[in-house]
Amino acid sequence: MCGIVGYIGKENALPILINGLKKLEYRGYDSAGVCVMHKNNFSLVKEKGKIENLEQTLLHSNILGNVGIAHTRWATHGEPSQLNAHPHLDCKGRLAIVHNGIVENYSALKELLQKEGHIIISQTDSEIIAHLIEKFYLPTGALAEANDGDMEIATIKALKLIEGAYALAIIDKNTNNILVAKKSSPLVIGVGDEETFLASDASAIVAYTKKVIYLDDNEIASLTQNGYSIKNINGELIDKKIIEIAMTVDQIEKGGFRHFMLKEIFQQPEAIENTLRGRLALGTVKLNLQFDVSLIKRIIIIACGTSWHSGLIGKYIIEKFSGIPVEVDYASEFRYRNPIVRQDDLVIAISQSGETADTLAALKEAKLRGAKTLGIINVVGSTISREVDSGIYLHAGPEIGVASTKAFTCQITALLLLSLYLQQIKKPIDNTILVELKNIPEKIKEVLAQSDEIKKIAEIFKDSKNFLYLGRNLNFPVALEGALKLKEISYIHAEGYPAAEMKHGPIALIDEHMPVVFIAPQDEIYNKILSNMEEIKARGGNIIAIINKRDTKIEKLAKYIIKVPESINELSPLINIIPLQLLAYYIADLKGLSVDKPRNLAKSVTVE
Ligand code: GLU
Repeated sequence: MCGIVGYIGKENALPILINGLKKLEYRGYDSAGVCVMHKNNFSLVKEKGKIENLEQTLLHSNILGNVGIAHTRWATHGEPSQLNAHPHLDCKGRLAIVHNGIVENYSALKELLQKEGHIIISQTDSEIIAHLIEKFYLPTGALAEANDGDMEIATIKALKLIEGAYALAIIDKNTNNILVAKKSSPLVIGVGDEETFLASDASAIVAYTKKVIYLDDNEIASLTQNGYSIKNINGELIDKKIIEIAMTVDQIEKGGFRHFMLKEIFQQPEAIENTLRGRLALGTVKLNLQFDVSLIKRIIIIACGTSWHSGLIGKYIIEKFSGIPVEVDYASEFRYRNPIVRQDDLVIAISQSGETADTLAALKEAKLRGAKTLGIINVVGSTISREVDSGIYLHAGPEIGVASTKAFTCQITALLLLSLYLQQIKKPIDNTILVELKNIPEKIKEVLAQSDEIKKIAEIFKDSKNFLYLGRNLNFPVALEGALKLKEISYIHAEGYPAAEMKHGPIALIDEHMPVVFIAPQDEIYNKILSNMEEIKARGGNIIAIINKRDTKIEKLAKYIIKVPESINELSPLINIIPLQLLAYYIADLKGLSVDKPRNLAKSVTVE
């Protein structure tokens, strides 16, 4: 999720590593560490917090060595702490590894390794990789210091057991090379003159070399001062092209996108896969909840802003799948209205940052009144995640754009997992839903592929003064979220409304200057939404409709159409929100506004 840098060459590695880490700071991180190798010895330094803390510790250390690896961590497993920071070592301190990503099956592997006598000291999923390689290092699998065995073979054996995502760099005290491997997390090799670099994104090394090789999934490479050799996971050598980077550092950081927000919109397929990672198995949902969910009689969701919208969607899906009644409250209202909370209530706090002041205060109120609590949070180790009895981390990766996008869809994904988890206590989960959940990332990619058409619609409406967003059922909160995105970044007034409710007031606003965005999938109330559309059309409103690919009726009613793949009703918000995020983004960008940092807004609202 976060950053890796590595160096092998003739220079002192440490300054190059620290420089590289600083270039990765934009991604957000919670701790940092380096390991430099010199004459078969490691110097390992890690610190919680900023890279400056690490530099402070390194100030008088005089670490020398021409080989090293470094890491900024964005915790997924285990709180941010010095111990959990990377690099991690094996038992004998012979291997040091840095890892970006998630080892899905880490608890099973940890158990196995502990039974074999490995001492695992951190709470991370990553440390087990060092021990797993150690296990395979010697032909006997014994823990030994002897300089035999083949690290590359051992690593390949270990990787074959790892389920999940990794960008990995490994150094071995007894070998003068760096091994790297990749699956579902980015890793790039930089080719220099008698020096070789590695990094999780090219911005960390572009100051030293513009010649790079992007590793593909299931590839492993051995880097030396004089170059590299790349193999596939079966150990067969492969030939890869060196690419000359033409992008600026700013462009690299944004992954070639104009803004972080756009990058994050496009990251959603991958982010949702990360939320699902390791949580679906053999027709069941696996969540590690620390209380007896069968005792829950009612659920209260507390949240603010975008998280409140995902909470509203949560109400529909939890009630549908589990039959447990759900209330959704603004955290700021909940805390001051003397809420009735019982011991058999589950209070769910949803917050991207895990630091939202109103949500935290409401959560404390709920705890005082004896409810069980659960957090749906992106930032591991954040205040809310420490307060709750149990949690579901999003694993969406750092979100930098102030207007939330990928956290929203990952929150819905987490709520879907929770609702199915609650259902499976009573009856088996319908397999079609699990299959469809896995299909969602591909369907989102189909919508993203239409971004140029959405941009054309944005061009037409960028000077509108007001917007109305209408949806029904699960897509009513999608309408709310679409309107919020537009307000946040384009400063155009927008309202979301339940489509049928519109005739009880907002219909008075409709004229040819009012764009009306309909979210209109072919669900059980499709015909009702057609009637609502007729009502708008009759009053001259300008309709933009998000419709299913097979829909043939709405094209006659709406002037502007965005077609999205159909899905199971309960999953459709994950698809339908994408064009609305893009519409808001393009309108704001065409207006020349500061998309990533809109005026008056903060990423994490830590004040009441
Ligand atoms: N899952 C790992 C951890 O929590 C790696 C996180 C990262 O990519 O920074 O330590």
